[in-house]
Amino acid sequence: MSIFVFAENSEGIFKKSALEAVSYASEIAGSNSCTAISIGEVSDEQLNALANAGASQVIVYNESGLNQFNAESYAKLIAGTVQQNGGSVLVYSNTYSGKALAPRTAALLKASIASGVISYPDTSNGFLVKRSVYSGKAFAMVNLPGAIKVLAITPNSFNLKSTGATLNKVSGTASYDSSEVKTKSIEVSKASGKIALTEAELVVSGGRGMKGPENWHLIEDLADTLGAATACSKPVSDIHWRPHSEHVGQTGITIKPNLYIAVGISGAIQHLAGVSSSKVIVAINKDPEAPFFKAADYGIVGDAFEVLPKITEAAKALKAK
Ligand SMILES: Cc1cc2nc3c(=O)[nH]c(=O)nc-3n(C[C@H](O)[C@H](O)[C@H](O)COP(=O)(O)OP(=O)(O)OC[C@H]3O[C@@H](n4cnc5c(N)ncnc54)[C@H](O)[C@@H]3O)c2cc1C
Repeated sequence: MSIFVFAENSEGIFKKSALEAVSYASEIAGSNSCTAISIGEVSDEQLNALANAGASQVIVYNESGLNQFNAESYAKLIAGTVQQNGGSVLVYSNTYSGKALAPRTAALLKASIASGVISYPDTSNGFLVKRSVYSGKAFAMVNLPGAIKVLAITPNSFNLKSTGATLNKVSGTASYDSSEVKTKSIEVSKASGKIALTEAELVVSGGRGMKGPENWHLIEDLADTLGAATACSKPVSDIHWRPHSEHVGQTGITIKPNLYIAVGISGAIQHLAGVSSSKVIVAINKDPEAPFFKAADYGIVGDAFEVLPKITEAAKALKAK
């Protein structure tokens, strides 16, 4: 098996999800080669992180013209690289860009595909992987047929490796006809959140129980103290208390942080669909019957306006020690 993995960078920095994907690919490669593909300008110091995560080789397209993510051109370069080198498995992280690239490259490579993968493949009888389906409410075991398989793994589901290996870098030689690229980015406006929600290990989230945007400083104070990202329920973004980029749930972002603190959120099934895979869930709600308490590991029955300042104060005191 010859394993390839796309290592996504954000302004030249590899995200944790990219390093997880490389570690995953290296685990399934075993003693076979694990080749990471990097697109856009990235320093050797950053590329070294891919070697440390398990890439035996890194194929780079280190061109400034490729710094801006474009699903069409990236998919052509990745598929071309896999084809040129006889790759049998191509791994992505199931991030926004991974979700855009995996099906495109699968189509270009005539490969089978599974997204939302949460297990290593079982190759004892075929190529079997476990994936989460129905917004994380069920699992499916799928067998991928054919010579090439594309996997998009769920972020925060696999351990990072630290191999200490040094970088083996090669320039990529795949190409594409730029006149065939139909979509061009005109302008990029970044979400203002300090920590990317999809990458965050800790998330503090507010619902309609926060009463209004003027009270969000309580959520932000706790998030800043913990180094957490902020999120919200759907109605909160629908009524423009918070930007849509913070909306988690069935129709929003699916997250899987180590800690999810839900404040003034009832715990409707559509909200839980996006957060229930969090490792530890803390619910703060003044209603002891709120459904969130059934899904939470820890619950605080109380008024958010009294509880939040106390928790923030306690977290600050703990950090000061
Ligand atoms: C097709 C569909 C898709 C949907 N997708 C999503 C989705 O992706 N994400 C999502 O979030 N929702 C989604 N919803 C909406 C979902 O069903 C709920 O209506 C929504 O999650 C409720 O938001 P909330 O908990 O913030 O508000 P509410 O239901 O109004 O709950 C507010 C909570 O705050 C508590 N509270 C009030 N005051 C305080 C206080 N002072 N201190 C502490 N607690 C307090 C209340 O007890 C209550 O539990 C979807 C619905 C549908 C039909």
